[in-house]
Amino acid sequence: MNVQLHDKIFKPLISEAEIQNAVVSIANKIDSDYTTNSPIILPVLDGAFVFAAALTNKLECKAEYSFIKYKSYHNTQSTGTVSELLGLDIDIKNKDILLVEDIIDTGLTISYLLEELKKYQPKSIKVATLLSKPEAIKVPLQIDYCGIEIPNNFIVGYGMDYNGLGRNLNEIYVVDE
Ligand code: 5GP
Repeated sequence: MNVQLHDKIFKPLISEAEIQNAVVSIANKIDSDYTTNSPIILPVLDGAFVFAAALTNKLECKAEYSFIKYKSYHNTQSTGTVSELLGLDIDIKNKDILLVEDIIDTGLTISYLLEELKKYQPKSIKVATLLSKPEAIKVPLQIDYCGIEIPNNFIVGYGMDYNGLGRNLNEIYVVDE
C-alpha cells in the first residue's frame, strides 16, 4: 500500500522478508570474518539505527558498540557538503572498526567518515550497508558488506526518513514520481 509523507507519495519497494534475508546474510558474513578478532561496531546515526539493531540481533561474534553521527541530506538530494564527525568517544587505535550505514548513495559520507576515522589509527575499517545505489556513486569505495543494490531513487522506511517522517515504516518505500 502506498504511503504519503509530507507532499510525496511513496510506493513499496523492498518487503520485510527481503530486508530480513539481507540482514541475515550480512550477519553471517560478518560472523565468518570476525572469528579471531572482535569489531567495534559504529552505526552511523540517525538512519542506520534500525538496520544496526536488526543486525545486532543476528550477530553472534563478540562486538563492542559506539555510535557516530553525520548528516549530508536535505530533502531528497545529497548536498554533497562535508560536515564534522560527531560522537566518537572511544579510543579506536589498533581496533577493528565496522562502520554500519543504512544506505550508500554518492558514497561521499562514507568516504569522509573513513578518512576521519583513519586519523585515529584503527587496525582495520570495514563498511556494512543495508542498501547501495551503484548508479549514484561518485567516489571509489570498497563496500565490504552490502545487502541490496537499488536504483537511483529516493527511498524511505526501515530507519530512513523524508524530512523527519517514515523512519518507523517496516518496509522500504520508493518515491512515486
Ligand atoms: P551519500 O553520502 O552516500 O550520498 O549519502 C549517505 C546518506 O544519505 C545516507 O546515510 C542516508 O542518510 C542519506 N540517503 C542517501 N540516499 C537516501 C535515500 O534514498 N533516502 C533517504 N531517506 N536517505 C538517503
